[in-house]
Amino acid sequence: MAYTYDDQNIFAKILRGEIPNDTVRETEHSLAFRDIQPQAPEHVLVIPKGAYVTADDFAARASDAEIADFWRCFATICADLGVTPDTGAGYRIISNAGHDGVQEVPHFHLHILAGRPLGRMLNS
Ligand code: AMP
Repeated sequence: MAYTYDDQNIFAKILRGEIPNDTVRETEHSLAFRDIQPQAPEHVLVIPKGAYVTADDFAARASDAEIADFWRCFATICADLGVTPDTGAGYRIISNAGHDGVQEVPHFHLHILAGRPLGRMLNS
């Protein structure tokens, strides 16, 4: 079954410029901005500009160019934040999907969390 994309979701509004965001990086196919309720000293959201609901939707339907752009954008942000484990203290990426994943915004996004020890992966 195909996903239905809700173009009234908050990230669609950010992409259309209808509400502001704290941009970290923008590329041809991706946008990264700071989470409005940060859970760590560094909390950046990376989103594709295309209308994809979840990580699996993006991976299944996005073009090779969109996918490469997204992951290269992610890598550049990690390097710019200085959190890559080769030289920095590391990070965690999370992408919540659907009900059990407790996804609030139905536009695919990757959370990059860093800047403090993040504890174990899940609390429950
Ligand atoms: P989730 O869909 O559960 O992965 O979470 C959505 C995330 O989007 C949460 O961490 C929110 O704090 C964040 N968020 C919601 N609205 C905004 C906004 N206008 N600007 C930046 N981040 C937002």
